[in-house]
Amino acid sequence: MSASNILITGGAGFIGSHLADLFLSRDCKVVVMDNLLTGDIRNIEHLFGNPRFQFIKHDVTEFIHVPCKVDAILHFASPASPIDYQEFPIQTLKVGSLGTHKALGLAKACGAKFLLASTSEVYGDPLVHPQPESYWGNVNPIGVRGVYDEAKRFAEAMTLAYHRSHGVDTRIVRIFNTYGPRMRLNDGRALPNFICQALTEQPLTVFGDGSQTRSFCHVSDLIEGIYRLLDSDFTEPVNLGNPVEISINEFAREVIRATGSSSDIQFKDLPEDDPKVRQPDISLAKKVLNWSPKLSLKEGLSSTIPYFEKTLRERGGEAVASTAG
Ligand code: UDP
Repeated sequence: MSASNILITGGAGFIGSHLADLFLSRDCKVVVMDNLLTGDIRNIEHLFGNPRFQFIKHDVTEFIHVPCKVDAILHFASPASPIDYQEFPIQTLKVGSLGTHKALGLAKACGAKFLLASTSEVYGDPLVHPQPESYWGNVNPIGVRGVYDEAKRFAEAMTLAYHRSHGVDTRIVRIFNTYGPRMRLNDGRALPNFICQALTEQPLTVFGDGSQTRSFCHVSDLIEGIYRLLDSDFTEPVNLGNPVEISINEFAREVIRATGSSSDIQFKDLPEDDPKVRQPDISLAKKVLNWSPKLSLKEGLSSTIPYFEKTLRERGGEAVASTAG
């Protein structure tokens, strides 16, 4: 890796903290910047004491100053679960717009590479299936998900504008549903809800009739793809995700099997603008990064469930207090 001083915004979050681990394990210096709105200091506390690691508590929508050399900025700051970005709609819009602008400004000033964490949500409720990067999406700009979707679409536009106008060396990753240790147990997403419900023998809350689909990627696969993307010279957006598609009903049954739970399934109303299908076309990532995910859902779940068991034991009610249902 030519870039050895890495700044990760949102680095105390689920994916950001795994990236901090990965870059440190590959001999880089890492600065994590996070305002801890949805991030959690416990995700990075094992790194305190590492001389190549530094944490700065800061809201990236304000001017960013980093007191050291920066070779690459990974911009991961943002609420990212539907429950979170509906609870913090204005912060979500601000971090995607103002925060991306500030982070790009820093990249330009330092001559650093810039990698934007974008999302499959740029495709909205897709009318093309699976979704290739060439699809422009089907987004409701004023719906409840619009705050996230439009912020990320703006962030992509801003990133490419800095690339074209200022010559900043940019990358854009479109991240599909990802799971693994350090997800917040109460972030409201299907996987943490289902695992917590299964482990506590409560019914699994399937929204709608459960026929909507998603494709779940383990975080260890995702971060390897992000590392390769940063190391490549590819400036167009790249999808990263696991292309194995599963209905939410089947996913709930898979979680019940994997946890050995006796929970059953309870159907609830489908949230507004909930995408009916989602599956990444990863041909581009295979071609330009020689990347594809390695872990099956079964393997990924068995490495994730122990984290949830441990966290439930340690944090109990606090961890699941606001689990959506
Ligand atoms: N979902 C569900 N039960 C839950 C939480 C989510 O059935 O307790 C559904 C949700 O409506 C969506 C899918 O699971 O269709 C994935 O939702 P998630 O919040 O994980 O993220 P999304 O992929 O929608 O961004």
